[in-house]
Amino acid sequence: MRGCVGRGPNSLELEHEMTFSMGEPRPATPAGGGRPSREEAEEAVRTLIRWAGDDPAREGLLETPKRVTSAYAEWFAGYAHDPVAMLERTFEETDGYDEIVLLRNIRVESICEHHMAPIVGVAHVAYLPYRRVVGISKLARLVDAFAKRLQIQEKLTAQIANTVHDVLQPRGTAVVIEAAHQCMTTRGVHKPGVTMVTSRMLGAFRDNPSTRRELLSMISYRASVTHDD
Ligand SMILES: [Zn+2]
Repeated sequence: MRGCVGRGPNSLELEHEMTFSMGEPRPATPAGGGRPSREEAEEAVRTLIRWAGDDPAREGLLETPKRVTSAYAEWFAGYAHDPVAMLERTFEETDGYDEIVLLRNIRVESICEHHMAPIVGVAHVAYLPYRRVVGISKLARLVDAFAKRLQIQEKLTAQIANTVHDVLQPRGTAVVIEAAHQCMTTRGVHKPGVTMVTSRMLGAFRDNPSTRRELLSMISYRASVTHDD
């Protein structure tokens, strides 16, 4: 979905604007009406500070609404990206490579749509190419494009897998995400150390148990390659 934001320019939009210089689409119009101005968003933060029991006028909190709205621009940057466009550039010179392509341990930073608390974990994205492959950094960017939105892990997993499957049209697509939800580690049931695992298997990964087994062993394989980063 592409469209224009509802209100005049504000600095949040300008930050998105910088992203577009790399050829990204404009942000989707939020469903349910126009986007508030940055000033309105900062006022909402002051309201939440008062709700928490503190005084937004005290010195240490004066710049907080500005910082929070800037942080939101990062946490929710996914709304400015078109996930389909990210995968449209593919490479067909693969010398017939038709085995599993797996990008493992992609860091996931998302925000739970029920409590607006962080979801942090890793994603594994795999596909079985049919005639074409995509640059691997695109798979990592695709994860971000869906993660940097209000999410639930189940939907995030399905959206990534469905997009890879629809755009690349591979023989199979698989996405596995393991993540901790701060809405259950720092509040509510308070269960630190608990992670949730979700997966979506499409095509050969769904239909062929041995292909699925091969994928799962690749995900759990302890690589001897070390990384500089
Ligand atoms: Zn939650």
